[in-house]
Amino acid sequence: MNFDIAIIGGGNAGLSLARNLLRDQTKNKIIVIEPEFPENKPANWCTWIHKDNVSIFKNSIKGSWEGWTVSNKTQKINHSSSNYKYICIDAAKYLTQIENELNNSNVSILRDAVVEISKENNRKEIICKNNTVFADHVYDSRPPELHTNLLRQHFYGIEYELTEPHHIDSVVLMDFDVDQFNGLHFIYALPFSERRLFVESTVISQELNQIEWYEDQIKLWMKNKNLDYLKKISSEKGVIPQGKIEYKNEGIHCIGARGGAVRLSSGYAFHNIQSQVGKLANNIRNDCYDVPVAMNKFVTFMDEIFNKVLINNPQIAVDLFLNTTKSLSADEFAKFMTNKTNFNIWLKVIAQMPKKPFIGQILKRANRG
Ligand SMILES: Cc1cc2nc3c(=O)[nH]c(=O)nc-3n(C[C@H](O)[C@H](O)[C@H](O)COP(=O)(O)OP(=O)(O)OC[C@H]3O[C@@H](n4cnc5c(N)ncnc54)[C@H](O)[C@@H]3O)c2cc1C
Repeated sequence: MNFDIAIIGGGNAGLSLARNLLRDQTKNKIIVIEPEFPENKPANWCTWIHKDNVSIFKNSIKGSWEGWTVSNKTQKINHSSSNYKYICIDAAKYLTQIENELNNSNVSILRDAVVEISKENNRKEIICKNNTVFADHVYDSRPPELHTNLLRQHFYGIEYELTEPHHIDSVVLMDFDVDQFNGLHFIYALPFSERRLFVESTVISQELNQIEWYEDQIKLWMKNKNLDYLKKISSEKGVIPQGKIEYKNEGIHCIGARGGAVRLSSGYAFHNIQSQVGKLANNIRNDCYDVPVAMNKFVTFMDEIFNKVLINNPQIAVDLFLNTTKSLSADEFAKFMTNKTNFNIWLKVIAQMPKKPFIGQILKRANRG
């Protein structure tokens, strides 16, 4: 099987790239190699989006909110924006829709798993479990390997049908009023309807926990809020890198989470992936096959400093998140989270950093060159 372009992994980055190329009426013969069917990939992908752009995802939006909160035991910061919405995309629906759009086009899907990629002259040989594919250009979006000492965001969430209405009217972005002994821990909750609530226990640390641990944390949070459920609708779990991912494999391009699209300080990646593959499709249209960087260097630099300050000073972590949220308006916060940060916003964020550890980390980085 010979192709101009092979996309490995038909997840967010892989299929979004294929869709962009198709919309550009590419003449390239393309293959997406993906072992799983999209309906078997349940996930809530959330991001902030300007109200004028919400329609781009209209067919796969599961929830949309104007407000979000960040809280601990003693304070609660409410953000409400009329310009930016926090949207939740149903991953399985989004991916199924793209796969349907690719039917009868010059993009084919191969349901197989890649085992090895080798290079012969300028062509790449992609060995899968059951097939071998040759391609001129390869974009690899397989989930990155996460080595054990990497800072990771790990989570488990359950969508419930409740016995009674919950009265939560905005997204619970981070509720830190939970166990903080196993790393920086918060509850994240999406109120899809008055009786439908998604609750997730998220930890930022190097060590993962057993599923039962997250379940217990969710149960405890629900109990404290007097929430009881009729049934569990679905669940999701994940591990996202919050440290730098770098692949050096000559001639094989990496995209998506593997291609550095995860925001190191927050774990959010959806927005960066969309932006990266949009620019890449544009490059390909102009016969340039290089992958644009997903995040600008300054954002990555600042996020690495932020994470180092957090790891070395866990006792200030919760206050740092609360104070940063408080210092920004809802619109500024949405812009900050989606990398549209201007100088003014950076100043406000930097002002919240504890001076000594922050300057200490900057000096350490400067000494390392
Ligand atoms: C449960 C979950 C929830 C998340 N929620 C959010 C969120 O709310 N907001 C946000 O911004 N980010 C979120 N993220 C982070 C990020 O946006 C997602 O992980 C996103 O799916 C990353 O896109 P990707 O294309 O890089 O990887 P994926 O979407 O994971 O795609 C990789 C694909 O590679 C395939 N694959 C694996 N092995 C092989 C192989 N050997 N050969 C071929 N294909 C292979 C996989 O089946 C998969 O389809 C979430 C992540 C998870 C796991």
